[in-house]
Amino acid sequence: MKSVLITGAAGFLGSHLCDRFIAEGYKVIGMDNLITGDLKNIQHLFSNEHFSFYNHDVSSFVHVPGELDYILHFASPASPIDYLKIPIQTLKVSSLGTHNLLGLARAKRSRILVASTSEVYGNPQVHPQTEEYWGNVNPVGPRGVYDEAKRFQEAMTMAYQRIHKLETRIVRIFNTYGPRMRLNDGRVLPAFIGQALRGEDLTIFGDGSQTRSFCYVDDLIEGIYRLLLSDYSMPMNIGNPDEITIRDFAQEIIKLTGTTQKVVHMDLPEGDPEQRQPDITKARDILHWEPKVHRAEGLSITYDYFKGLSKDELYKNEHKNFEAYFR
Ligand code: UDP
Repeated sequence: MKSVLITGAAGFLGSHLCDRFIAEGYKVIGMDNLITGDLKNIQHLFSNEHFSFYNHDVSSFVHVPGELDYILHFASPASPIDYLKIPIQTLKVSSLGTHNLLGLARAKRSRILVASTSEVYGNPQVHPQTEEYWGNVNPVGPRGVYDEAKRFQEAMTMAYQRIHKLETRIVRIFNTYGPRMRLNDGRVLPAFIGQALRGEDLTIFGDGSQTRSFCYVDDLIEGIYRLLLSDYSMPMNIGNPDEITIRDFAQEIIKLTGTTQKVVHMDLPEGDPEQRQPDITKARDILHWEPKVHRAEGLSITYDYFKGLSKDELYKNEHKNFEAYFR
């Protein structure tokens, strides 16, 4: 039986990865310090004899007994509000944490896949973004703590590949959505759906002309799975190229939820990228992968998930004064 260590296991993507690898017949070791993750995302796995869990911060030395075939490093805050609230942890998990996991991969002779991000492209001047584009990142802006940590992570991973001949994979993840996203993590999709469910107006930051390209989580997990098992060791974009303005996206959510609320405009956060769309030519050619779930379908599944949450969760306000984080 092959074994895989998944960091960030209690998070949105980590928990879906745990499910996928359990379904594929792996022994799965989940690790999370629960700073942004939630055990409810993996509680259904605790009764599975092939699943185990460590509550541990990978920024400190990581020890796991036994053999490890694969390591997937998905621990990191990933929403702008989270990393503005906990910038030092964000920097540490992708730098010190990545270093620890690369060391573990070396000791165990594992193949390691690290979760990078479209944020390495910053506010991109090339559109759509190909893997060859080096990005336009402000190191000292509010997003710098995330963007630069992820860029460091890529550099460190490549150094271990070149110097220690480690088998490494780097996935650059674009905006992804689906069940188990935190309703209050501040990201645009849960923000809009939460507002619709509470009967509040939808908050568009800026004029809403900025674009994003949203990928349904099952498509993303399939792409990551294929990348891990492929021979490709340079960074690869995984995301859905179906690009939409935030203004049009708000209208889609209004239609989906049937809310009678209106949209209101708030200040655009500093450093908010104007456009983002993955060029997925490499994933198509090398992994024979492309997204299959259309936004209408993915949004409807995600809306059903959010509708099923308790009133407590719906009204829990993690970011009462969150606007302050942007100033
Ligand atoms: N956004 C918005 N209203 C919200 C939350 C976000 O208009 O309530 C915008 C945000 O300014 C950004 C886009 O939606 O342009 C996507 O934001 P998100 O935080 O989901 O992720 P990002 O892609 O910026 O990392």
